[in-house]
Amino acid sequence: MNAYPPILNNLIRRLSRLPGLGEKSATRIAMYLLKAPVEETGELAENILQLRDKIRTCPICFHFTDESVCAICGDPSRNTGEVCVVESTADLLAVEQSGAFRGRYHVLQGVLAPLDGIGPEQIRIKEFLARIDSEKITEVIIATNPSSEGEATAHYLLQLLKNRPVRVTRIASGIPMGGDLKYTDRITLERALRGRQAF
Ligand SMILES: [Zn+2]
Repeated sequence: MNAYPPILNNLIRRLSRLPGLGEKSATRIAMYLLKAPVEETGELAENILQLRDKIRTCPICFHFTDESVCAICGDPSRNTGEVCVVESTADLLAVEQSGAFRGRYHVLQGVLAPLDGIGPEQIRIKEFLARIDSEKITEVIIATNPSSEGEATAHYLLQLLKNRPVRVTRIASGIPMGGDLKYTDRITLERALRGRQAF
């Protein structure tokens, strides 16, 4: 039992539930917040409160946005003929940071994982097909992760796209099997995108 006052204890407990944080880092953050200027902690609290209110998903690509469409879909300089399909917003950001892609995205918000009960209906596949049929998309780059679920999802998408007039490519290897786009360095990811192959 530690001797922290309950408020501090609660904060540490809550912080330690956040992904990637253990009790030790949670304690360090709590101690930092305790001494931080009140404006800083106030803004942080405000920011967290606003998340659920202000952030929504883009109705086109399902990336996060606080506007009616996201900054990427709303950018007229992006190539609307190319769509890069990713599992998550974190993966979208990783591809964005590689600087190797100037088209638009489609965030699936997951991957097919039948054992966990996640089928095509649970991720944004229907919406993706609607885009293929309504937008002038000429190339689909499948950038799901090289995990077994990511591969299965990629193959599923390929089957769906088979009879549609689009070129389908898969980002090239370089990302190890079992790897994750969001933890892949910028150079490797840039190479994987440039070296994408017909799928
Ligand atoms: Zn968007």
